[in-house]
Amino acid sequence: MPTPWRPFASYNLWLQFAPPIGQEHWHCDMKRGFTKARSREPLVAALLATDTIPQRIGLLAQRGVYEFHRDPFILYHSDAVTKVAEILQLDQESEIIQERVISILKNYHLNPILFGKNIITLSRGDEGFPEPILIEQDNYQFNLFAAIDCIFEEQHGTLHILDFKTGQANFDKRQAYVYLLAANLLYPTQPSVASFYNLESEKWSDPITATASQLNAFRIELARISQQHQKDLQRYRHSPSEFKRIFPPNPGINCQQCSFNSICEFSNIEVSA
Ligand code: SF4
Repeated sequence: MPTPWRPFASYNLWLQFAPPIGQEHWHCDMKRGFTKARSREPLVAALLATDTIPQRIGLLAQRGVYEFHRDPFILYHSDAVTKVAEILQLDQESEIIQERVISILKNYHLNPILFGKNIITLSRGDEGFPEPILIEQDNYQFNLFAAIDCIFEEQHGTLHILDFKTGQANFDKRQAYVYLLAANLLYPTQPSVASFYNLESEKWSDPITATASQLNAFRIELARISQQHQKDLQRYRHSPSEFKRIFPPNPGINCQQCSFNSICEFSNIEVSA
């Protein structure tokens, strides 16, 4: 039987509503409008189907880690990096992507942080939407989507949720809390911690935990975001001409990195000094 449609929430949606602390000036609500409300328009769909360079690097890095652990012997090979690079068909990527991903693969081969761990799940990174987790909050039902990169089990039974990062962005603890909530719903009898590991800088965050009352607070916040998002979508469907009021633009230097700058009417607005 097909799963009934439900409103949803995810870390990605939360991020599209509210940026991490310190990145407020980069935030543009109109991106959520393009991504979620206008995603079926051919021009928008084509842009959404094209990975940016950071997205492509993140995807290939995750796939690389997956390939190092798919074959238990590959990590022992002296040419393991070359083998994984071939599997990833890196030669078909741009020079900048090849360079950064090779560096990530070399880092990981020298310091394979999952080696010897009891890995419960390890994502390839290109699986698409994860299984939805049903949440009921004050008579409101929504699906939580949590695209977890890796879960391994610590020696004493604690589940460790690990999120791989690339680039220079700081870790956003909200992502860890969404994953801890997901783990609490999927594995209610096991304690869990979450952490971030940057495959380029090799920086591993401290483990992050959440109390039951913190998880409840995040659940309420996700329900609120999900409801607000549905309201915005309904407003847009009812009055498409109100797009820029429902999803206000924030033009500026951030437009240079925005996937929608080729179709956004605000992208060329001059930034005041
Ligand atoms: S181009 Fe600029 S204003 Fe337009 S959606 Fe992107 S960041 Fe927002």
